[in-house]
Amino acid sequence: MNILVINCGSSSLKYQVINSDTEQCIAKGLCERIGIDGSQITYAPAGGEKEVTVTPMPDHTEAIRLVLEALTNEKTGVVKSLDEIGAVGHRVVHGGEKFASSTLITDEVMAAIEECNDLAPLHNPANIIGINACKALMPGTPMVAVFDTAFHQTMPEEAYMYGLPYEYYKKYKIRRYGFHGTSHSYVSKRAAEVLGKKYEDLKIIVCHLGNGASISAVKNGKCVDTSMGLTPLEGLIMGTRSGDIDPAIMEFIAHKENKSIDDIMTILNKKSGVLGLSDNLSSDFRDLEQGHNNGDVNATRTLKTYCYRVAKYIGSYVAAMNGVDVICFTAGVGENASLVRRMVCEYLGYLGVTIDAEANGRRGEDIAISTPDSKTTVMVIPTNEELAIARETVRLV
Ligand code: ADP
Repeated sequence: MNILVINCGSSSLKYQVINSDTEQCIAKGLCERIGIDGSQITYAPAGGEKEVTVTPMPDHTEAIRLVLEALTNEKTGVVKSLDEIGAVGHRVVHGGEKFASSTLITDEVMAAIEECNDLAPLHNPANIIGINACKALMPGTPMVAVFDTAFHQTMPEEAYMYGLPYEYYKKYKIRRYGFHGTSHSYVSKRAAEVLGKKYEDLKIIVCHLGNGASISAVKNGKCVDTSMGLTPLEGLIMGTRSGDIDPAIMEFIAHKENKSIDDIMTILNKKSGVLGLSDNLSSDFRDLEQGHNNGDVNATRTLKTYCYRVAKYIGSYVAAMNGVDVICFTAGVGENASLVRRMVCEYLGYLGVTIDAEANGRRGEDIAISTPDSKTTVMVIPTNEELAIARETVRLV
C-alpha cells in the first residue's frame, strides 16, 4: 500500500509517499510560502529529477491539490491515480493527555485535536488545516493522526509535573508533554533491533539533536522522561530556542529592555539557542564547527555550553532510570556532527564510555560508535519520522 505522509506547518507542508511493503520513499517534497507571495512546490520522485515550481498557493487546500497533481502527473508522477494511495498519515504536534497513541481520524478525533490548540497555538491549527484539506480532496481515503506527544504519555507523574500551583494542572493541564515522540520511539526501537536485544530489557537515552532538540529516557520500552515540556521551548539549548533558563530572566530582560511578554517569547524562541549564544554567528552546527576549528571564541563557547547541557541531561536520565545501556544520537546535528558527539561523550567516562574514532566519523548508518568493550553502548541511529508515521498509518488502517 502507498501511504501519503503529511507534515503541515502554518506556511509550509512537507510530504512523502512511502510504499509500505518495501518501506521505501517513492516521492517526496515540500510546499513553501503557502498564503504568502512567491509560494513554490518542490517535488522529487525517487530516482528522478527534482522539480521546483513557483506557483500561487493561497491556502493549504491548493497546496495539497498541487501535491496530488504532481504525484499523479502523467510523465513524472509515481502513481496512476489517487486510488493507489491507500491512506494518509498526518503528523499532529500536540495530542495533550487525550492521545497516548496514534488514531484513525474521525469527527470526534478532530474535535479533540482542536481542544489541544491552546497547548500548541502555532502548530495544531496548521495540522488541522492540512487534515481538512486532504479530506476535501481525498474523501473516502482513511486518515491517521500521529502525535508528537503520544510516546511520552507513559511518563510517571513525578516526571511530568512542575512545581507550580496544582490548580493550573487541574484547570489548564499545564504539565510536561514532550515532543519529537515519533523520533524517540523509532530510534529507541531501532537501536534495540540493531543490537539484537529485546526492547523491553533495555534502558535507552535518545538525544534528538536537530534544529529543535530534545532528549528522552526510555526504560523497558516506555518513555519515563523527556526534556521538552508544555511547549518545545524547554530543555536543551537548540538552534534558536533557549531551552532551560531561570524563569526570572524573562522579567529581568523585559524591565531592562522595555519589552512585552510577546517580545520576550520571540527572543527565547527565535533569537536564543546556539544562534544567540554564538553572538549571532549561526544556528547551523556546520558553521559552529568550522568557527571552532578556526579558533572563533564565539563558536567554541557555544559548542561547549551546548554539549555540557546535553551531558547534564544524560546524567539526570541515568539517575532517573538507575542506569543506562544505550545512548543514541539522532537528527541533523546528532547524525552529522561528530565533534558534538565526541564532546558530549567526553563527559561520560563514569559510564565507562569509550568512543571508536573511526566509527564516529562515519555517516548515514545505524551504527555503534563506542568500542566493543565500552561499558555503555553509544550509537548513531538516523531518524525517520515519515517511515514511523507510515508504519503507524498502516497499523491502523
Ligand atoms: P529540524 O528537523 O529540527 O529542522 P534537522 O534534524 O534537519 O532539524 O537538523 C538541522 C540541523 O542539523 C542544521 O541546522 C545543522 O545545525 C545540523 N546539520 C545538518 N548537517 C550537518 C552537518 N553535516 N554537520 C553538522 N551539523 C549539521
